[in-house]
Amino acid sequence: MPAAAWERFEASLWSTTSLLVLADGESLVVDPAITLHEVARIDRRGLQLGTPVRHVLITHGDWDHVCGIGAFPDATVAMGEETAELLTSGAAEKSIERAADQYEVVLSGSPRVDLAFSRGSAIALGPFLVETFPLTGHTADGSGYRIREQGLLIVGDHLSPVEFPFASSPAAYRTMLAGLIEMLREDPPDAVIPGHGPPLEVKEALGIAEADLGYLRELHKAVLDAVDGGCSREEVRTGGLAVDPPRPCAPDLEEMRGFNVDRQIDEILATA
Ligand SMILES: [Zn+2]
Repeated sequence: MPAAAWERFEASLWSTTSLLVLADGESLVVDPAITLHEVARIDRRGLQLGTPVRHVLITHGDWDHVCGIGAFPDATVAMGEETAELLTSGAAEKSIERAADQYEVVLSGSPRVDLAFSRGSAIALGPFLVETFPLTGHTADGSGYRIREQGLLIVGDHLSPVEFPFASSPAAYRTMLAGLIEMLREDPPDAVIPGHGPPLEVKEALGIAEADLGYLRELHKAVLDAVDGGCSREEVRTGGLAVDPPRPCAPDLEEMRGFNVDRQIDEILATA
C-alpha cells in the first residue's frame, strides 16, 4: 500500500477536514462534512476511484463532524461509545438541526451509529485496521485514530493550524497534548490529520502541540495566581483573557477564547 493512499477534502466552513482512506477496492471516510453537496463529492470520489465508501469513522460528536453520516446509508458507521451516546440520546441531531438553521446550509439528514467501540481498542473495518485512543480536552467524547498501514494519525479537533485549542476541559487537554507530543516523538506517523486545516508533517504537528500546551499552561497559571491572590471572578477572568492564544481562528469562533478562560476558572474553583 503506498503511503499516500488517502485524500483530504475541505469543507468551506472552518476548513473542516474529511478524510477518504483507500485500501483493497473500498474506502473509509473520517468525519464526512459538511453540506449535502460537499459530502456527496466525497462519495462520488470513492466511486470514481473504484473504492466505494463502506466505512465511516467519527472523531467526536460535534455537529460539524457527524452531519454527513446520513449520506452513507449503506456504510458501517463506527465511533467511540461516548460519541455513540451523544447520537443515541438525540443531542447530536438537535445540534445538527440548529446548525443547519444558523448557517443556512442543507445537511445530509440524521446521524446514526452502527458500531460503538471502547476507546483504546483496535478495530477492523474491512481491510482497515484502526487503533483507537481517547482524545479528551476539546470534548470528553473524542477518539484519536492511528491507521498504520497508511501512516496516518487522526486527531479530531486538536493540533489545528487554523484554530487555537477550544478546551471543554483544560486539564484534560494539557494531559492529552503531553501524550500526543510523546507519541509524535517516539512513534511518529507519516502524516497528522487535524479536523480543521491542512495535513501536517510531524515537525509541524509538534510545533503546534508545544505552542498549544504553552498557551494552556500559561492560562492555568494566570487563573491560579489570580484566584490565590483573592481576586473576584471578573478580575480572574480579565487575567485569563490577557493570555494570548497561540494563533488566530475564524472570527465567528473568537468567543472560544473566553470559553477557555471560563472552563479553566471552573476547574480551579471546583478543586479550590
Ligand atoms: Zn470541529
